[in-house]
Amino acid sequence: MHLETRVLVTGGAGFLGSHLCERLLKQGASVICVDNYFTGTRRNIDGLLDHHRFELIRHDVTFPLYVEVDQIYNLACPASPIHYQHDPVQTTKTSVHGAINMLGLAKRLRAKILQASTSEVYGDPSVHPQTEGYWGHVNPIGPRSCYDEGKRCAETLFFDYWRQHKLRIKVARIFNTYGPRMHPNDGRVVSNFIVQALLGRDITIFGDGLQTRSFCYVDDLIDGLTRLMNTADEMTGPVNIGNPTEFTMLELAAQVIELTGSRSRIVHRPRPQDDPRQRRPDISKADDLLGWAPQTALRDGLIRTIAYFENLLKDDAIRPFIAQEQSAEA
Ligand code: NAD
Ligand code: UDP
Repeated sequence: MHLETRVLVTGGAGFLGSHLCERLLKQGASVICVDNYFTGTRRNIDGLLDHHRFELIRHDVTFPLYVEVDQIYNLACPASPIHYQHDPVQTTKTSVHGAINMLGLAKRLRAKILQASTSEVYGDPSVHPQTEGYWGHVNPIGPRSCYDEGKRCAETLFFDYWRQHKLRIKVARIFNTYGPRMHPNDGRVVSNFIVQALLGRDITIFGDGLQTRSFCYVDDLIDGLTRLMNTADEMTGPVNIGNPTEFTMLELAAQVIELTGSRSRIVHRPRPQDDPRQRRPDISKADDLLGWAPQTALRDGLIRTIAYFENLLKDDAIRPFIAQEQSAEA
């Protein structure tokens, strides 16, 4: 990357965004981080605030933004079912109006723009593993639709700006990613199981636990995103970025219990509506075009993530909130 590259990261105070800002600063870029702190927090970017090439702006991407940059990573959007279903209308607005605003900005600046899309565009897939050519199996009117359809519409907008305005776009379809700085109470399975195990609470498996996911460690994911941004202009994607090793939720719970040495019990709760039964990326495109494949085994990534949550739970200012919200959900 050129030393002077100016990069905008929307959703930069979130889980993935904060790791991305950190990586871009390490690569020599100037970074503008934009966030409205809906699910992100300043704590995630504490270590960056004093960096001379880092700038933080509190802003909601559903409103236009005027900054001068060379590249845009559009990550702003709540990502966990609990958070994106909290205010579904705002979730759709964030994906759709947010994409329009960021694409408009990219058009004015002739900047390259990358969209953090999602495996949810495949819905509850009938093709397995999922290739980029699969159009998906998505309920347009269910509780997950605000997220899934919002992200699908954002992809449509990206490709229309590419066709109509010759914008340089990159679309990454991110599969379940985990690691330090996940929100402790966002209900995603990895953070949930780890926090429950560390607090000695019951581990809540939704349904029979035989549904599958493929978990990518955050460092690998960030590597994939930055590689995609730096590909030739004709490389638009969409590209699946995720770890193709598939686990059932029962297997995940067993690993978390083993690695934390917890005495938590496994309990079963009803499976949420439209919860995908299986999910695994076909990453041959990422391999061919980006020379990318994940390097971190689930066990190693879980060890690092558990260490993060152990530390977080030692913080007297934070622990009571995590414990209280976990009890409220139980
Ligand atoms: P996150 O909730 O930690 O981060 C999202 C960030 O966007 C937060 O900091 C939040 O405050 C911010 N935000 C939300 N609405 C905003 C708005 N209107 N204006 C400005 N900022 C806003 O989630 P994450 O896991 O870091 O996800 C980042 C992106 O990656 C999201 O777009 C998500 O859809 C996508 N993604 C993540 C995963 C995953 O497994 N983590 C998988 C697929 C796709
Ligand atoms: N899940 C679970 N227990 C939990 C949280 C989630 O069994 O405490 C299940 C959930 O039903 C889903 C899988 O774990 O089948 C992954 O859920 P998550 O919300 O992390 O991601 P997504 O469903 O968006 O892929």
